Order: sequence, then C-alpha cells, then structure tokens
Amino acid sequence: SSWWSGVEVGPPDPIFGLLEAYNKDERTNKVNLTVGAYRDDQGKPYVLNVVKQIERDNLDKYKEKEYAGILGYPSFHRAAIEFALTPQEKHVKENLYVSAQAIGGTGALRIIALFLAKFFPHQKTIYVPAPTWGNHAPVFRSSGLNVETYRHFKPETCGFDSEACYEDLRKIPDNSLILFHACGHNPTGIDPTLDEWSQLSKICKEKNHYVFMDMAYQGFSTGDLDRDASALRLFVRDGHQLSYAQSFSKNMGLYGERVGAVTILCDTPEEKAALESQLKIIVRPMYSNPPINGARIATEILTNENYRSQWLVEMKNMADRITSMRTSLKDALAKHGSTLDWSHVTKQIGMFCFSGLSAEKVDALRNDYGIYMTRDGRISMPALCSSNVDYLDYNTIGRDI
Ligand code: PLP
Repeated sequence: SSWWSGVEVGPPDPIFGLLEAYNKDERTNKVNLTVGAYRDDQGKPYVLNVVKQIERDNLDKYKEKEYAGILGYPSFHRAAIEFALTPQEKHVKENLYVSAQAIGGTGALRIIALFLAKFFPHQKTIYVPAPTWGNHAPVFRSSGLNVETYRHFKPETCGFDSEACYEDLRKIPDNSLILFHACGHNPTGIDPTLDEWSQLSKICKEKNHYVFMDMAYQGFSTGDLDRDASALRLFVRDGHQLSYAQSFSKNMGLYGERVGAVTILCDTPEEKAALESQLKIIVRPMYSNPPINGARIATEILTNENYRSQWLVEMKNMADRITSMRTSLKDALAKHGSTLDWSHVTKQIGMFCFSGLSAEKVDALRNDYGIYMTRDGRISMPALCSSNVDYLDYNTIGRDI
C-alpha cells in the first residue's frame, strides 16, 4: 500500500476553499465577494502604475539578486517603521527597534507568534477580538500560543462594543498579550474611535498588558495613511513598548509579492542586539531569508518622493472607489425594495462589509444565485463594481429570509 493511505482529506481553507468552489462554478452571473483583494471597476485585478514604473526602473537599478540577509533589508525596515510611526518618533530616532522583513503580513504574524511563544515572560495566551480575521487563531495556535477572545462587535448596533471590550480587557489576568487590528478591522470594518483607543490604551497600561497591533491596511482603510496609523501612534506615545505587523499587500497591491514586516520596540541597544539574534534564530530554519523583489518595490515607494506622491494618489483612488461602492450597495438595496436597515454598510470602513447575513443565508446565496461570501457574512467591498452591484439587490442579499 501507499505511504499515505492513512492520510485523510482535511477541511478546505474557509476563504481560499470558497475561491476554488467559485472558480468551478459555471454560472456566468456568479459574483465572488470572498477574498480581500482590490478590483477595478471592471472587476479586474489592478497593478498600480507606480509599481509598474518601479519594476521597470529597478531592472536597471539592481544588478544582482543576492540574498537579502536573514531578516531582510535594513533600508526596508527603516522605511517601514518611518511609515508606521513617523521619522520623529523616539524609537525611530534612537534606533531602538528590531524588524524582520516578512513573507506578507501573515509571515510577520508567524514570526512574532513564534517569538512570543518562546520569550513572552507571562501567560502564553493571546487575546484577539471577537470576531477576528480567520487566519489569526491558526497562525497563533500553530506557533504554540493559546488563543482567547475579547468582545469587539455588537450585533445589535453593528458597531464597536466598547463597554464589553473594556470589561473583558480588565477582567483577564494582568500582563496578558493583546492583539488589536490597528485599522480597518477585519472582518467587521468597525474601528474604535480615537477616544475609545485612548481608553483602551489606558486600560492596557493599568493592567500592564503587552500590546501587539496587526496593521494590514494602513492608508487603505480611509485613504489617509496618518489617520489609519493613529491608533498605533497613540499607543506608542502613551509609552506602550509594543510590537506590530505590517502588510503591504493591499495598500501597494503587492499581494503575491508577499511583502510584510514585523517590528518590536525595545529599550536599549543591548536588548535590540539580543532580540535581533533571536529573530534570526526563528527565521533561519523556516525559509532562510525573505524574497527581495517586493521589498525593493515597497522601499522605493516609501523613500522616493516622486514615487510616493504617485502612490498616494493611486491608493486614495482605490480607497475612494471602495467607499463609493458602499453607497452604491446601500442605494441598490433600497432601490430594489429592501426594508432592512443597511446603514452599517456605509458606516463601516476599509475593505470589508460585515453584512449581518446569517450563515444559512450565505449558503442560500451561493447555491441559488452564485454569490460567494465567507460564512460570517463578510463582503469584500472592492469585489463590487458598477456592473454587478445591482445584482446584489432585494431578490438576493436584501431579502429577509
Ligand atoms: N492581518 C489581517 C487583519 C488581514 O486582514 C490580512 C489579510 O487579509 C493579513 C493580516 C495578511 O496579509 P498578507 O496577505 O500580507 O499576508
């Protein structure tokens, strides 16, 4: 018999599994609202013009494809932290941080998870919001952390459940590990206000929680990169010696290039040297060193004024198109007679709309209409375009079944 006859089929990935089912679906009016990737108004994948330009220019600029080093390019680390925290921030000025260039935002999460599982000096449980991105728990658990939740979303208002969230963060043990979505909470599209962030920061200080921020959408949530970084910067200003992950998949449209970074703020040069050595020990046996092409593109965007200003325009256009699709969806639902309250569609921000549709309704939409979304009712907003928004009307999404 085969070596592998004892291996059983495992469950499909909740997001990429749906994509496979969608690709096999032969209906011509099918709509894919699952994967969080930007599409233009023709429903096509979009490569930013500035990225195309840099790729052409980089062919001349870089004459080699040597290994980047275990943690990647220091110039990329610098560009990424200046982007997240500003060049004026104390840790940036004093060089008190350790970064690893990572294989996308997911790779960044994986590195920090392994680091925390090995070195976090208190309970190795990370508290994530309920709900959270579907890959958080698998990444953390497979890295050796326990995963628990705190409340974030209030179904009755389709908003942030501030009181429940504060209560949960106060109730859990002191010195806990807390994950926040820095902006554009996935899947709900609901972020705390700046006042609420301030309160969260205060509670985490009082309880001496260690904060980790996952920032996958800087600039892409609202079109304003400073606004999107404001929660992270507020926590740093409040003195949290935190760590954070960055993804450049969405805001630069570099999905398959896999560009991300993880950064840990530290206190002294000695601590920095120790952390750097330990991150190398974590990364080396996994993939030796990160891919170079996307990091070179991202570094150019972040450090060359000319490219950066072109990018800001293109990023804003993407964010604005998503916002306009929120209005179009709400209007289409009203036009076709839905009497349900869809105000949350335009209240939420970022890439996703947490529709409030039940798992049964999601299944019915897929089976009866070829409309695909994740079973938590999350809609990837950039998948909507002028030609399909009307299809998501009263007869499909908007009917209360
Ligand atoms: N973190 C969050 C909250 C995300 O939504 C995503 C992507 O969907 C990621 C991390 C992973 O990003 P990447 O595709 O760069 O691995």
